[in-house]
Amino acid sequence: MFDDKRIPPKTKETVTLRACRRRLPQSILLTGADERLREKCATELCMAALCEAPGNKPYCGKCPGCIRVKAGTHPDMVVLKPEKDKKSVSVKEVRERVTGDLYAAPTEGEVRIFVFHAAENLSDVIQNALLKTVEEPPGHTMFIFLCDQREHLLETVLSRVTEFYLGASPDGVKKDMAPAIAADIAKAMCGDSAYALMLACAPMQKNRRLMRRTAQELILLSRDALAADLSIEPLAGDREAAVRLHARFSAGQLLKLKAAMETVIGFADANANENLLLTRFTSLLEEIMST
Ligand SMILES: [Zn+2]
Repeated sequence: MFDDKRIPPKTKETVTLRACRRRLPQSILLTGADERLREKCATELCMAALCEAPGNKPYCGKCPGCIRVKAGTHPDMVVLKPEKDKKSVSVKEVRERVTGDLYAAPTEGEVRIFVFHAAENLSDVIQNALLKTVEEPPGHTMFIFLCDQREHLLETVLSRVTEFYLGASPDGVKKDMAPAIAADIAKAMCGDSAYALMLACAPMQKNRRLMRRTAQELILLSRDALAADLSIEPLAGDREAAVRLHARFSAGQLLKLKAAMETVIGFADANANENLLLTRFTSLLEEIMST
């Protein structure tokens, strides 16, 4: 179990010991490594929880329970995986398949397991909706979250799960593009160019999380720009962009920018369509430029 060179020995040891004793935590977070290894480990955890063979191994790999977990057809395993063209499952799906169906008894095994793939893309709304459940899950349920980096989950969720770290994550080293995009947007706005604004926004296409992050960054920039005395400690990374915004826009416009970005974050969390979200993002910024 958890037999991969990338997995730290301590993780392997803890998981195996707990699985042998049939004492796996009810809410588990698998972080690090790559997506494929996270999925493999999640399958092993499900087998350990749903194996029907007696004995003191974590799982047998041969009983009907193990075979159905491997085939992805076990009725007590609820897998939440984004559709091919989506980054995340929807709030609706989480309501229907998880929070609304939490108390259904397992049909074959002793537990029902909810497996969340790509947890790094779960919106704050979904994470918040799951909080209470993850904190006090019904006795016969288990939760497994698969996530590239723990930083992508809310603090409140992190404090309620047992994390098993699977090793350095190649997915996780992706650079945060938001500060650079926010600075480009600020520059385009100060230059009064709708075309430059469109170009600056383009990298966020079909990327809700990046739109959300960039909106957060623009809120920080607007707050920095609002500070009349620019010598105070800046909140955002790009000091020059804040100075530019300060010189170009009135306090009223900067407050509007802040409010507009809060609106964008609200839409992003409500899972608004990504194309509409980007259109809304740019049109709100254009409005501020033209006032
Ligand atoms: Zn088995």
